[in-house]
Amino acid sequence: MIAEIICVGTELLMGQVLNTNAQFLSRELAGLGITQRHQQVVGDNAERLEAAYRLALSRADVVITSGGLGPTVDDITKRVAARVAGRELVLRPEAEQMVRERFRQYHREMLPNNMSQAMFTPDSKVLLNPYGTAPGAIVPVGNGQFIVHLPGPPRELQPLFREQVKPWLAERSGRTLVSRYIRIFGLGESDVDNRLRRLEEGGNPTLSPYCSTGEVMLRATASAETEAAAEALLTPLVSEVQAALGDAIYDIRSDDSGSMARAAVEALRAGGLKVCTAESLTGGLIAATMVEVPGASEAVKGGFVTYMTESKTELLGVPAEVIEKYNVVSAEVAAAMAEGARARLGVDIAVSATGLAGPGGGTPERPVGTVFVGICSPLGTRTLPLRLSGDRPRIRELTVKHALNAVRLEALQLKGKQQK
Ligand code: AMP
Ligand code: MG
Repeated sequence: MIAEIICVGTELLMGQVLNTNAQFLSRELAGLGITQRHQQVVGDNAERLEAAYRLALSRADVVITSGGLGPTVDDITKRVAARVAGRELVLRPEAEQMVRERFRQYHREMLPNNMSQAMFTPDSKVLLNPYGTAPGAIVPVGNGQFIVHLPGPPRELQPLFREQVKPWLAERSGRTLVSRYIRIFGLGESDVDNRLRRLEEGGNPTLSPYCSTGEVMLRATASAETEAAAEALLTPLVSEVQAALGDAIYDIRSDDSGSMARAAVEALRAGGLKVCTAESLTGGLIAATMVEVPGASEAVKGGFVTYMTESKTELLGVPAEVIEKYNVVSAEVAAAMAEGARARLGVDIAVSATGLAGPGGGTPERPVGTVFVGICSPLGTRTLPLRLSGDRPRIRELTVKHALNAVRLEALQLKGKQQK
């Protein structure tokens, strides 16, 4: 299979926008084992775009476009492709519903010309776009050839390509895709990047990073004629990543359903262990996050929300003198909270968190983001001092992840001991 990319937009020819879509798509195509011999950049001009389409279709099986799917007169990508296909654009109900929904969601007023975003040739496969207002499409143009339309903004084009176009291309080119989702905690994206030179390389298999709060996810994808061959390509890459990142990896699986909460709950269940929480700044969020995981009822016994200082004494028995002496945000109090919770609920592992989520209340000695996580189990009591950055929701979310990671590591250690 041969593919050709056409990036549409005068801004690209003027140098106002760097053509990162061409690089992204080229890497992805290379990863799929699909040949590219030419690519084109065209301004928003119907005549020249039509010539570009005809040239591309004279030498490629699939033409992929980026940009020009909006509602304005200079958005011509679809109209010209329809002319090349010899079809009319018609309103497609599934696309119309999506466009209306997106405008409602973004609280934007819909103008009559926005409906042009929902128009495609009758035999097009519409690519519903969860990331923006313009759907994409796979447009048959006869002769077994296709034009694939993707929106210009990279944050829409990239996920749309990966989620909807890539599997379609893989199937058409007779290739199979196999992926591993590798989840990493405790390293920033640039750390991961530094340790993995491969991230910069394209080819097959590909390795792409995605970031979320406090975490990096790597997706390794290999393409081959058979699943076994794709697996064989993937295995050494995954080993290489494991060697480079070691303990920072907390989950590897072949779909993206992993999460820190799931890893913690699975580690607990694998060891037949029970956990409870004693939460201050997270107000129950550690427990709630674990309980989102199906099967958590076998591992999560319960928890204490001890938000005001006095409740730490009343519910968990943290001595008032300890709070007085060390401050309520301290390793000593986190330790006493975990110990108190564990004694009261009779579980294997108790986890606690106390800290300052802000925005107010910080001091030079204890700035906002100062957090202590405590963990108590038959292995003893230990505490994790953290200096987190960000706003209140982020500090709480990061605290939850650190707490769950501590639970996970404790459960793995306890299970290791059981086996000895
Ligand atoms: P369009 O869909 O043509 O209106 O493009 C919308 C926006 O997407 C442009 O203003 C650019 O910021 C961005 N964009 C379009 N094409 C590309 C490209 N090839 N590479 C990177 N960004 C692009
Ligand atoms: Mg444009």
